[in-house]
Amino acid sequence: LPVLAIVGRPNVGKSALVNRILGRREAVVQDTPGVTRDRVNYKAEWNERRFTIVDTGGWEPDAKGINASVAAQAEIAIDLADAVLFVVDAMVGPTSTDEHVVRMLRSTKKPVILVANKVDDARQEPEAASLWSLGLGQPWAVSAVHGRGVADLLDHVLTVLPEVSAVAKDQVGGPRRVALLGRPNVGKSSLLNRSAGEERVVVNELAGTTRDPVDEQIELGGKVWTFVDTAGIRRRMHLAQGADFYASLRTSAALEKAEVAVVLIDVTEPISEQDVRIIELVLESGRALVLAFNKWDLLDDERRRYLEREIEQDLGHVSWAPRVNISAKTGRHLEKLVPALELALQSWDTRIPTGKFNALLAELTAEHPHPVRGGKQPRILFGTQASSRPPTFVLFTTGFLDPQYRRFITRRLRELYGFEGSPINVNMRVRE
Ligand code: GDP
Repeated sequence: LPVLAIVGRPNVGKSALVNRILGRREAVVQDTPGVTRDRVNYKAEWNERRFTIVDTGGWEPDAKGINASVAAQAEIAIDLADAVLFVVDAMVGPTSTDEHVVRMLRSTKKPVILVANKVDDARQEPEAASLWSLGLGQPWAVSAVHGRGVADLLDHVLTVLPEVSAVAKDQVGGPRRVALLGRPNVGKSSLLNRSAGEERVVVNELAGTTRDPVDEQIELGGKVWTFVDTAGIRRRMHLAQGADFYASLRTSAALEKAEVAVVLIDVTEPISEQDVRIIELVLESGRALVLAFNKWDLLDDERRRYLEREIEQDLGHVSWAPRVNISAKTGRHLEKLVPALELALQSWDTRIPTGKFNALLAELTAEHPHPVRGGKQPRILFGTQASSRPPTFVLFTTGFLDPQYRRFITRRLRELYGFEGSPINVNMRVRE
C-alpha cells in the first residue's frame, strides 16, 4: 500500500488526526499474540482507496530533544513515505523548530501537504492562511478533534498519493524487494557493502525498477534485487533518546516497501528482546522472512550450545523461516542467502487451487474431527485461499472453531505445503 507519513512537533495533534482518519477502524483488535502495542503503522481507507499511515509521533521527547526528533521524523518520512503530512498548530504558528524541518521538506521531491490543525471554527481561518509563508503551498485548515476540514484534506491526499504501492508494481516483473533488518552493529552495513561490492549494477533501464535513492539494486546469485531503505543502514542516526522508537519506525516503513525481510542476528550475543521485536514487526507486516545468523566466524563451541537453546526458546514461533549461518566479514555462506530468499518468496506467492484445498480439508476433518462443544460440533463447509503474499485462507464454518483446531489446520497446511519463509493466515467466517 502507498505510505502516508505524519510529521510534526509534539502537541500539534498528530495522534488526534490519525484517530480521526482511521475513524472506527481503530477499534479493530489484533489477536496475534506477542504483537506489541506501540504501533507506528495503521491501515487506513478513504473513498475506497487503502493506504498505510506511518505515525512518527509515537514517542515524544522532552523539550531538549524535540529538534532532533522532529528532524528525524521528517528524514524517515521523506525517505520512506509516498507523501508527507506536515502538521502545524495553527494557533501557535510555525516555530523555530519547524524551520529546519520545513527546509528539509521543501527540498524533497515527495509530495508534502501542510496541515494547519486546531482550526476549530471559521473565525480562525486567517491563522491558517498565515502559514502560506512556510513555502509548502496551501495550508489545509482542519480540526482533528472536531473533524472539520478533514474530509477535504483526505480528498486532496488521494490526489497526491500514488494508486499502487511499489510492491504491486513489482508484480509485473521488477526486482524483488528485500528489507535488511537487525539491531545496530549486527552487521547490516557489512553485509550490504560485501554484497554490493563490485557487483553493484546500474539498472536504470530495468523495467519496474524504482529510482528511489534510499534503495539500492544489488546483484546476487545472478539476479538483481532491490534492497529497500539502504540509506537508513548507511546513515547512522544519533539520537540520545527514542533511538528504539525510530529504529522501529524505520523497520516498519521499510517493511511496507519490501516483500521479504532478512533479519540479521548476532551469534556472539544472546538473542535479545530487540531481535524478537524486529521479528514481530515482520510478522505484523505479513512479509516473508529469512533469518541470517551473522558473525559465525566468531562462534565458539560453548556459545554455540547456548545459541541452539536460545533459538529454540526465543525463535520457536518462526521455526518455519529458513536459516542461514553467515559471516558478512569473511563472506562465509553468503551464497546461501539467495536460495533462502527465493524459497521464502516462492512460499509467500503460493496459491493453492480451491478444489485441492477443499479435498485437503475433507481429509483433515475426517482424520481429526472438531470436538463437540456444548452439544454442537462446528463443521467446515468450505474453504478457499483468499489471497497470497502471504497465503491467507478462509474457512466457512457452522460455528466457531477452537483456537487449537485452527492451529491444527495451520500446522497440517505447513506440513503438507511447507510454506518455508512465509507466514500463513487461517481465518474463519461463521455462517449462521
Ligand atoms: P550494522 O550496525 O548492523 O550496520 O553493523 P555493521 O555492519 O556496522 O557491523 C558492526 C561491527 O561488526 C563492525 O565492526 C563489523 O566489522 C563487525 N562485523 C559485521 N559482520 C561481522 C562478521 O560476520 N564477523 C565478524 N567477526 N565481525 C563482523
